[in-house]
Amino acid sequence: MIKTEKVLHLKSSRGRKVRVVREHYLRERVPCFSALCQAGCENDGKVLPGDLTHYVVPDAEVVLNYLEVLELVELQGVVFTQTACQALHSKGRRFYNRLRNLLKDPRHDCVLFANEFQEFSYCPREKGESQEKWQTRCVYAAAVWYYNHLAGMMNLVMITEDLDAVSRFSSLNSGVYVIGVQEYLQSFWPALQAAQDLYGSVRQALQEKEADGSQREFPEHLPAQVLEAGIKSGRFVQGTLNVSKHRAQNEAFVTSDGLSSKSPDLSAGVLVEGSKSRNRAVHGDLVAVELLPKAEWRGKVTALSEGPADERSGDDETKPMPTGRVVGILQRNWRDYVVTFPPRDAAQAQSRAAQRVLAVPWDRRIPKVRISTQQADALQDHRVVVRIDSWPSTSLYPNGHSVRVLGRAGELETEVQTVLIENCIHVPPFSEAQLREMPVNSPEKPWAADPAEAAARRDLRQTHLVFSIDPQGCEDVDDTLSVRRLAGGKLLELGVHIADVTHFVREGSLTDLEARSRATTYYLADRRYDMLPAVLSADLCSLLGGVDRYAMSVMWELDAQSLAVTKVWFGRTLIRSSYQLHYELAQALLNGEEAQVPELARLDPEERDAKLSELIQALETLTHIARHLRAQRDRGGALELEGVEVRAQLDQDKNITALVPRQPLEVHETVAECMIYANHWVARKIQEAFPYQALLRRHPPPRQELFSQLVDTARAAGFSIDTRTNKALADSLDRAVDPEDPLVNRLLRMMATQAMSQALYFSTGAQPEDQFYHYGLALDRYTHFTSPIRRYADMVVHRLLTAALQLERGAEPGKPPAGNKDMEELAEHINSRNRAAQRAQNLSTGLFQCLFFKERDPETDPRCVADAIIYSIRDNGVLVFIPEYGVKGPVYMRNKEGLVVAAGPDSTCEWQSGSVRRHSDHITTMSGRGSATFRLFDHITVRISVLSTNCHADTLTLQVISNQPHLGAAPQRPGSPRRSQLVQEVVRLAGEAQEKAARRPELSKEEREFRQSRTPNLYSLLEEIRELALMDPDAAARAGTVMA
Ligand SMILES: [Zn+2]
Repeated sequence: MIKTEKVLHLKSSRGRKVRVVREHYLRERVPCFSALCQAGCENDGKVLPGDLTHYVVPDAEVVLNYLEVLELVELQGVVFTQTACQALHSKGRRFYNRLRNLLKDPRHDCVLFANEFQEFSYCPREKGESQEKWQTRCVYAAAVWYYNHLAGMMNLVMITEDLDAVSRFSSLNSGVYVIGVQEYLQSFWPALQAAQDLYGSVRQALQEKEADGSQREFPEHLPAQVLEAGIKSGRFVQGTLNVSKHRAQNEAFVTSDGLSSKSPDLSAGVLVEGSKSRNRAVHGDLVAVELLPKAEWRGKVTALSEGPADERSGDDETKPMPTGRVVGILQRNWRDYVVTFPPRDAAQAQSRAAQRVLAVPWDRRIPKVRISTQQADALQDHRVVVRIDSWPSTSLYPNGHSVRVLGRAGELETEVQTVLIENCIHVPPFSEAQLREMPVNSPEKPWAADPAEAAARRDLRQTHLVFSIDPQGCEDVDDTLSVRRLAGGKLLELGVHIADVTHFVREGSLTDLEARSRATTYYLADRRYDMLPAVLSADLCSLLGGVDRYAMSVMWELDAQSLAVTKVWFGRTLIRSSYQLHYELAQALLNGEEAQVPELARLDPEERDAKLSELIQALETLTHIARHLRAQRDRGGALELEGVEVRAQLDQDKNITALVPRQPLEVHETVAECMIYANHWVARKIQEAFPYQALLRRHPPPRQELFSQLVDTARAAGFSIDTRTNKALADSLDRAVDPEDPLVNRLLRMMATQAMSQALYFSTGAQPEDQFYHYGLALDRYTHFTSPIRRYADMVVHRLLTAALQLERGAEPGKPPAGNKDMEELAEHINSRNRAAQRAQNLSTGLFQCLFFKERDPETDPRCVADAIIYSIRDNGVLVFIPEYGVKGPVYMRNKEGLVVAAGPDSTCEWQSGSVRRHSDHITTMSGRGSATFRLFDHITVRISVLSTNCHADTLTLQVISNQPHLGAAPQRPGSPRRSQLVQEVVRLAGEAQEKAARRPELSKEEREFRQSRTPNLYSLLEEIRELALMDPDAAARAGTVMA
């Protein structure tokens, strides 16, 4: 080892430049991480393949400015030098972390070479040599070292934007090429248009940046150490900036979990009003705010707002709240944004150079982004993905560059891609390398259970009647059930058997990493994106009927009389499901209706009857057990909440033919109850084995103040709601029934759900035990175990359960589970992906709702007129719910022009000049036609139309056309069909759909996908109702802004 000195110029945390002299040790052996290595390097971990045409070594400046081009997974054989890495480090932690993640990610073919520790590639900096020149020389030396180290078997390409370096170095060594980035991409990756486009747009943005003006538009941000000291002393408040969706121009709030504990004043956050006070902070950034003097505090606006550009009207405000201004930014949380390029005339007018465009983000909370592009004309009315680069204090708008073009605004594919990108959902097709990890299952080589593996499992194939109940057309069956009598009928044995996904997906494999980063299967209204490749999700892990499958099972022995658990067994099993039932069929069997079970169709009548009665008996026993389990939880205070889910019915061209609300069946509850039970018992098991690192799911109790709207609304209808405990809430909701109008109860349940907190995954080491409680399910411990095909959390739990069982047997776990910190980090990642999945699903439902109405003329089509019920009163209007379509939204009583809704003697409504008065439970309009009153829970008739804006998602607008119920609204009025009728109706519809499908020669791919994508999927309905859907943060945010 050779000792030398190295001089570093560092920036201290206070921003000063410091010269540091370090002892620097050089070695002969520094790993090269190449498969071609002949020198016996210790190449642990990721290695560059030997079968590439070249390795590419970017210089420091290229890494600094074009890292996102190098992040493209298609670029292979990238060598990052230590020199470039350190240069990036000085640019900021965010960039440095991106490179670190890239190096860690096995899907990216790149390595790090510690060139400055390598004796023969290290270059000391020369006197008078600039930092940049020296870095470029170091990188070149590293490229030469590689060429020599690999004995000339691999060509090396150094890429640099320094033309001087190109001419100086390019002829020095044959086999080591030095070229510019653009030339490199064009000659070596001609087919990779995305890389060239991205390069072009980043370069343009860099050039524009140099040409920026100098007039200051915003105050400078305070330096980091001032912010830190200010936060410590309490002068500044730290939190996340949340821009109001409805008043994006003017209203933003800084919120933080810690705020309310510090000062009760700040529990609702700090209001930041106007763009100057926001001082270049973007929605989602972590900021420091300074509170203004109390005299300058303002209130939130409470009126319903029409359109995005609404200015504050002044009169409809809540009482003043803490108000402040942003003084600094602690962390930018910029992501990829979808923007729309404005029409050409406007583009030319708004910018000095025709190539500078102010693009409008799809998300109204994001400011317009200034993009420099040659394609301003070609891209008008297109949706484009952009990234923000900087926001200097001299610019009214942030600067950014385009990444890729999605397509023309308004086209279905463009809009669906927009929904995905806006939620950071990245779901590329599974790569070849991932698919190579999959087991083979083809007609020539069908998969079969491995005899050794089978012997190690408990074999249930002969002893247990196993069956599944799922939505129709479901291909990914991850749960099955069994039930049988033991000990001459004294005991019952209930079994839940779940797909053994982790048998096939090794921890840390490419498939595992991909599943982990997706964290869930994403369901949109017309398609879905699987978490796992189809060979697993639809085949080998899917517990299909009549084939051998590996499972993870939980089996309980219950006392046949009391149903108390006498014994529980967990373990790996081998099963063969006998029946693949769907919900409607199972319910029909339970109801004693005539129904065809496909698995029995070919048997002779006698055998068929015997098998049928065996199956029906199993279903009945299951229902009996589930009712008992449910009652048990009910006594603990489990909540039944209400969600509205609407499904778009599509024809083969993806045109919407109807919007169908989903309907619940009892059998659905039965299956859900068994799954809840299994999840609960597995949660207990893994928490006992790993008290500080088990992945559980908790549901915190709701904040009481959020219930006030529910309580007030219920009072208006004459009911009292007790929200002190979940039991009290459940009981009082049960009592709040209007015999005349079942919708009243449904609405109150919807409001209760909106006040709920979200259920969250967590690591048991990160929370005190009294926080483990699941409020909605009324269980002390809960987790997710039953859907490993479509939720990564369940895969983690399967691995924990496996490890717990190994420990129990006294064996060492194959791989010890992650520690508390890693587990908590994983839990947060999964939580954030689940929220994204939920938002994307809601947005895509909204997209299809708008498509449905867009194709109809609201003036003539009777489907655009519907019955609506009022559930909230506002200053200038009401909020209504339309049961037929599951739509909620505002209905204005006073419009922008100041006209009010006037009702005539025939109850028809029209706009007239007049005034509006709001009361606690009603709103009254006065006009030349007299006065009209709209009360909470009144039914009115509304017309639904679509408000299209080029730059954002379309929205539905609702206009009252009569203050009386809609006459055509029979299905939801009193005397609505009882449950059994509903069941028949759903069975009939499902049957018709199936017949229709059978008549068609072959289903298109889209259709097959749609049929899987949770057609009346009642199981998911229940899961979501109870846990997720209605705790949708987006809805809660809406509730916060619209429902002041
Ligand atoms: Zn080597």
